[in-house]
Amino acid sequence: MSIHSFIDALPKVELHVHLVGSASVPTVLELSRRHPGSGVPTTEEELRAFYVFRDFTDFAAVYQAVNALVREPEDVATLVTGLAGDLAGQNGRYAEVTVTPYAHHVAGMPMRAVTEALDIAARSSFDEHGVRIGYIFDIPGECGAEAARVTLDHALQEPPQALVAFGLAGIEQERVRHRDAFRDAFRAATAAGLHSVPHAGEMTGPETVWEVVGHLGAERIGHGISCLDDPRLVAHLREAQIPLDVCPTSNVCTGQVARIAEHPLPRLLGEGLFVTLNSDDPPMFATTLTGEYRIAADVFGLDRAALAALARNAVTASYLGSAAKRDLLAEIDALA
Ligand SMILES: [Zn+2]
Repeated sequence: MSIHSFIDALPKVELHVHLVGSASVPTVLELSRRHPGSGVPTTEEELRAFYVFRDFTDFAAVYQAVNALVREPEDVATLVTGLAGDLAGQNGRYAEVTVTPYAHHVAGMPMRAVTEALDIAARSSFDEHGVRIGYIFDIPGECGAEAARVTLDHALQEPPQALVAFGLAGIEQERVRHRDAFRDAFRAATAAGLHSVPHAGEMTGPETVWEVVGHLGAERIGHGISCLDDPRLVAHLREAQIPLDVCPTSNVCTGQVARIAEHPLPRLLGEGLFVTLNSDDPPMFATTLTGEYRIAADVFGLDRAALAALARNAVTASYLGSAAKRDLLAEIDALA
C-alpha cells in the first residue's frame, strides 16, 4: 500500500475546523442559489475562480461573503452536513466543529432556532454520512465583551446536544482589552462542563499561550505553534501534554509561516509535544484533512507509524465518549 493509500485508509478525526470556513464549493453553490443577488457566484466555474486566493485579504473577503450567505438556521444546517459529506469522502469519522453563535445572532437568528438546526444537522451528518459531530462555541475576540456575553448565554441557555467545548478566536489586542469578560465567560462555561479550547500562539507570541493556559483553563490549544519561541512554555506543554491543534496549510495561508517546508511541525514533534493535524478553513485554504496528512508525509517525511500516531492523537484529544474512542483507536491500530 502506498503512503497516500495508507493516509486515505486512516480513520480521521478533525478537531479544528470553522463552520463557515469549511464551506466547500458545492455547499456555497447551494447557499448562493438559495440567496441570489448576494454577490457570491451562482455557477460552479465562477465560484471556483472566486475561491482562488492570493493573500490573506482575499481570504477574509471570501470568508465574509460566505458568512453573509448564512441568513437562516437552514443555512447553518447546510454548512454542517456539507462539512460532514466532505469528511466522509476522506474517511473522516468525527469532527469538533467551531461554530460562532455571535455571527448568527448578528444575522438575526434566534438562539433556539440555531440550536435546533445544529441538532438536526448533527443527526443527519451521522445518519447520511457516518460522521459524528461535536460542537465548539467560540467567542470572536475582535467583537469584545458583547460577543462573550452572547456566546456564553447561548452555550448555557440553549446548548445543542453535541456541544462539547468553548473557544476563543480573534486578535491579541482585543484579548487584552476584554480579558476579564473572556475570563469570566470561560469560568462559567467550564463550570457548566464545557471544555476550554481557545486559539492562542497563532498570530501572536507565546505570551498568549501562557495567558490561555493560566487564565482560561485551556485544555487544548488552537494552533499554539509560537510556543517554540519560549523553552519554558514548551517544557510546560510537554509535561502537561496539552494538545495543540496544528494546521500547517492555514499557517502558510495566513502568513504565519513563509513556506510549507518551513512549517515547525517537525520541531513540535521533536520536542515531544502533543500534536494533532487539522485543516482550519479547508476549502478556503485549498486543503483538506487528508491534504494535511499528505503534507506531513510528502514534505516532512513522516512514515506510517508517525502518521498513525497523529491520527491516534486526534482521537485521544477529542471529546468523544470513551467507547467511540476505543473503537477508533482499535481501527487505527489494525491498519498500522
Ligand atoms: Zn482556527
